Amino acid sequence: MNHKSIAIDGPAGAGKSTLARKLAEKLGFLYVDTGAIYRTVAVKVLWEKADPADPAQVIPLLEGLEIHIGYDSDGVQRMYLEGEDVSAAIRKHKVSGVASQVSAIPEVRAFLLDFQRKLARESNVVMDGRDIGTVVLPQADVKIFLTAAPEARAKRRLLELEQRGEAADFDAILRDIKDRDWQDEHRPIAPLKQAADAVLLDTTHLDLGQSMNQLLFLVKEKIK
Ligand code: C5P
Repeated sequence: MNHKSIAIDGPAGAGKSTLARKLAEKLGFLYVDTGAIYRTVAVKVLWEKADPADPAQVIPLLEGLEIHIGYDSDGVQRMYLEGEDVSAAIRKHKVSGVASQVSAIPEVRAFLLDFQRKLARESNVVMDGRDIGTVVLPQADVKIFLTAAPEARAKRRLLELEQRGEAADFDAILRDIKDRDWQDEHRPIAPLKQAADAVLLDTTHLDLGQSMNQLLFLVKEKIK
């Protein structure tokens, strides 16, 4: 059976994960947050005290790397690294930058490509990331490029961190977001960019409900 797939790409903080998860829930599809998978590799790199900027230190860690995705009964994705639940650890601020660094290494991307494609072969998926519509699932039934102005994304991230009780500073977050955008857009392999056949959804001036309505409208136009 051919499964349906919806690719949602875009920069950090555009609302991808929240919207993709809700969309998957509405459609009864599996939600796959691919950033969480890159973050799990980053945790391994931190565990091993390897230098994330040095491919020679990162690549050997891929061999025999044990990553598993699980889902709670309410559909929330959990990540396991070598059997340990790292779902909270991958959200640490430090992990974001390391994930972005290791994701620029071609061998890391190749390793995760098969992993991601397998998930889409086995289930209907809503998959979010940076290169889902361009590289991972170029045949996706629907492709959305979700973005927002960096300042709007930084404001959302600040709120998120505050709600989790993590100390945060707007200017530092904005700088981080811009740095990560730059890294993700300028890496030679699978850079962050809108697929030619993706629909652009800019959420700068939309709240979550409005963004969700627009997303559902776009998806229902393509998947009857
Ligand atoms: O989406 P999230 O911020 O959790 O992703 C963490 C990092 O993983 C991103 O900054 C990006 O460098 C990388 N990533 C990627 N390709 C994906 C998903 C995430 O390169 N499909």
